[in-house]
Parts: sequence; structure tokens; C-alpha cells
Amino acid sequence: MRQFKLEVAALLAAWASAAACLDVPQSSQGTCPNNVNAKQLGNKLSNTAEIYFPGSAGFAAAIARWSALDPPVASIVVVPGTENDVVETVKFANQKCLPFLATNGAHGSITTLGKMTHGVEIYLTQLDCVEIASNGQTAKIGGGILAKNLTDVLWAQGKQAVTGTCECVGYLGPGLGGGHGWLQGHYGLVSDQYVSMNVVLADGTLTTIDENSDLWWAMRGAGHNFGIVTSVTSKIYDLVPNYAIETLIFSGDNVEAVYEIANDNWLTNGTMPVDLNNWSYWYFDPTSDPDKPVIAFYIIQEGVNIVDPVYTEPFYNIGPISSQAQSGTYLDLAAWTGISLADPPCQKTGEANPRFPIYLKSYNATAQRQVYDIFSSLVTNSSGPFGSALFMFEGYSQQGVKAFPDNATAFAYRSDNLLVAPLLTYKLDGPELDAYVAQVGNQIRQILYEGSGDSSLHAYVNYAYGDETPLVWYGSEEWRQDRLQTLKKKYDPNARFSYYAPVA
Ligand SMILES: Cc1cc2nc3c(=O)[nH]c(=O)nc-3n(C[C@H](O)[C@H](O)[C@H](O)COP(=O)(O)OP(=O)(O)OC[C@H]3O[C@@H](n4cnc5c(N)ncnc54)[C@H](O)[C@@H]3O)c2cc1C
Repeated sequence: MRQFKLEVAALLAAWASAAACLDVPQSSQGTCPNNVNAKQLGNKLSNTAEIYFPGSAGFAAAIARWSALDPPVASIVVVPGTENDVVETVKFANQKCLPFLATNGAHGSITTLGKMTHGVEIYLTQLDCVEIASNGQTAKIGGGILAKNLTDVLWAQGKQAVTGTCECVGYLGPGLGGGHGWLQGHYGLVSDQYVSMNVVLADGTLTTIDENSDLWWAMRGAGHNFGIVTSVTSKIYDLVPNYAIETLIFSGDNVEAVYEIANDNWLTNGTMPVDLNNWSYWYFDPTSDPDKPVIAFYIIQEGVNIVDPVYTEPFYNIGPISSQAQSGTYLDLAAWTGISLADPPCQKTGEANPRFPIYLKSYNATAQRQVYDIFSSLVTNSSGPFGSALFMFEGYSQQGVKAFPDNATAFAYRSDNLLVAPLLTYKLDGPELDAYVAQVGNQIRQILYEGSGDSSLHAYVNYAYGDETPLVWYGSEEWRQDRLQTLKKKYDPNARFSYYAPVA
């Protein structure tokens, strides 16, 4: 902390010198200045705000990202201390013709982010308030909070909110694209919980919006395109006290059997019970199978200390390599499924982390086998180029999501049941390898798409690779695209928010 303060002090001193004039490339000429005097901005910010320049430890920490593939490039980092600091920073960037991008958990990995080649990163980490309303039914939540921090603060008060599942991911980043989480079966998506939000628009105006605003629909599914959310008021709920999980490790030989039973039980002949979530991963684990990736199959049930055998028995009958039963609380779910602060997805290792997501209604066992075989040929051992790759199959309960009409928000895929994505982690090694990964990732996705019976590709915007189109991220219905275009023209005519899955 002391080191941090010293660095800030040094930066403030630096403003007094000519060195505070950054030589930042300009996106256009004319009225744009040749250089940018950060002191002008510093003078407008609160005394809790921070500004970091390249070469400082604070700058390096703020720009570190989960995926190194096509990251956004910042020339300067501003860490707002107040909502008004975001306002001033956006106005400053506009005056100086500088691109800007809000960041929080830095887990956004879509390659469109790489189109930001310079400009201002607005790192929201200090905007992390949680204020529970006196009726205990809503909370005002800062736009820069991480999922884990929010969960912990609410937990201490006997409350919980729908958040993303991974502890180190931002709370708003997922929500602005819809937002999947363990509690969605009860209450709906992360963004379905929002009651109002404070947003800094493209021109630097701070405004509060709710269901009475035309922008409200777009902020819940395509929100990254329209503003910087400095705080949101969300519904919150009483805690579900206990959870149990059963983790079954299967050989890849069982792909068809495992997913046919998942279909029969929860997807084609029935629905996922509201108290159940089922995820699975494929990855290379030589202790379980030295030759090919295993299937790690998670059945998670709330409100119990042991998962009901009705749910697990059909899978045990296949004959897993191993199994483990655990019980605990909601706070244990992330560690059980490998996405806690201590797990690999929360480390910034400098590797590329592209995913090729697709939403499905059910599994197609033939397609599952085909993509398993491709994945297996890539992931041959843990020291190979794709040794850390992971194939993810997320089967959440859906009742809360489907309780909202399809057109309720800009999130387009309420009728789907599964979020599926190969995550092809690799070390960057030039454009040829990047192109190969994109080709094989898309090949895998195409097989799943052809096996889905759907007539258009559905991809979760927050997992997207980046080569998809807005129709794939936001739904191919003409009315959705028209509505987004109209709102974009009204609220962001100069396309300032256009680095994360731009609607146009
Ligand atoms: C390991 C892992 C686990 C994940 N788990 C889930 C999950 O359980 N559920 C789920 O739905 N998604 C999940 N995701 C996807 C996640 O929704 C996206 O990666 C999301 O973009 C991450 O947000 P962030 O704040 O961490 O990242 P950032 O890169 O900091 O932000 C991502 C985008 O959101 C914008 N943004 C962030 N905060 C704000 C704000 N306050 N106002 C306006 N714009 C903002 C940024 O400008 C950027 O464009 C996961 C991703 C990873 C890598």
C-alpha cells in the first residue's frame, strides 16, 4: 500500500513538469491537440483518483489481462475515485480525441478489443461500494466491483445476488452482456435483477436510467456499447444455506453415454430442476487418463448435504474413473468448479485465451463425439501447445431466465439451455498459430452448430471470440438489430463505445 501511495505521489509531482504532456497518437487531426497534458485532467479529478503512466508498476498492473490475444492498448490509465471522475475522464478523452475503455476484472477476451490501439483506460476498481437498502431487497453496487467481493459483502449480511460464477471476474462485465450465474434458475440472469443504474454516456453525461428509459432494454445484453455503469441497483435475496456437489471423472470413451443421459434427464425429456446445475469440462489429466482428455462432470444441488442419488445414479451406472462428493456453502462453488481466486482462470499468465462459444438447446451425441476427437487430437499431453486447453459445457437451471419474455432485454438467447465453448489456451507465437487456432476453434463450433438443428448461430457475447457478427452476439431478428442501431445512433453517434462486440 505504501509503495502504491508513493507511486501516486510521484505521479502527482510529474504533472507539474512538462513530462506530464503525453505524446499520444491522435485518431484525427483538426481540433485535436498534438499532445495531452494529464495535469489538466488531474486537476478535475477527486483526490482519491489515480493516474498511471507507462513504465510504472500501477500502469502494468492495471493493463494486465486474462487473455493476451488482441488486447486493448492504453496510453494512460485513470482510476476514478468517484462517479464524477468517470464523467471528467470521458469529457477529457472526448476533448483530446482519445479513445477510452472502461475495465474492471480484465477478463474480457473478445478480439475486437484489440482495435483500441491507444487511449485512456478507465479502471473502475475503486468504485466498489455495496449499500444494502433498508428493506433488504435491493443493493446499490459499484460498477467496479468483482463478483467475489460482492458475494462476500452480501454473505456477511445474510444476502446474495445473481453474479457470474468466477470469483475474479467483474460483476458488471457479465451483466451488461446478460450474465449467467448459479442462481439464474431462481431469479434470471444477472441483468434481470437490475432496478436502475447510473451510467456515464458517450458525451460524458452522468444519468440514472431505469425501466422508463429506452436505453434500459439495451443495457441488459448489449450494455458494453452504450455507457460506463458507475453503479447499479440490483435485487438481492436471502441466502440459500447449503450446497452439495458430486464430481465424476469419465474417460473420453464415454462421451456419447454421458451426454445422452444428460439429455434424457434434463434437456430433451425434462428440464433441469431449479435446484440443480450441471457443468462439465474436458481437459487433459494424466493422473486419470494418460492418453486423452477426461470428462469432469459436476452435478451441483442446493439446499442439501448430498446430491440426490436420483440425479447421480444414472451417471454412476456408466462407470466413472473416479468420483468425489463434497458439501459446503455457496461460497465453495467456485473452488469446487476450479474458478476461485486461487485457480488458473484467475491468473494472468500472458497466454492467449480464445473461446468459440455456442448456445445449444440439448447435446447431440454424434457432434459431441466429433468435437471430442478433434479436441483430443489437440490436447495430447499437458506439455503440448494446447496442454491447458479446456472444453466447457455449462448447463444451468433456466426457469428464472425463461420466466422473462424473449424480447424483455437485448439478451437474445433465453430459449437456449447450454452454454458451450472450447477454450483453446496457448502461448502466442505469431499470426500463423493465431490463424490455426481460429480455424480449429471455428471448425469445432461449426460441427456443434450443424448438430444443433438451429437456423442461426447463437453465441454468448461475453465468451465470443471476436470474428462473429452482431447478429450472432445480439440475435438475428431484424427488430433486435434495428432497435440496437437506433439506440446506438441516439446515444453513441460517434461510436465511442465500440471496442467490445460493437453493435455496428
Ligand atoms: C474465467 C472466466 C469466467 C467467467 N465466468 C462467467 C460467468 O460465470 N458468467 C458470465 O456471464 N460470464 C462469465 N465470464 C465472461 C465474462 O462475462 C466476460 O469475460 C466479461 O467481459 C468480464 O468482465 P470483466 O469486468 O472481468 O472484464 P473487463 O475486460 O474489465 O471488461 C469487459 C468489458 O466490460 C466492460 N465493462 C466492465 N465493467 C463495466 C462497467 N461498469 N460499465 C461499462 N462497461 C464495463 C469493459 O469496458 C469491457 O468492454 C467469464 C470469463 C472468464 C474469463
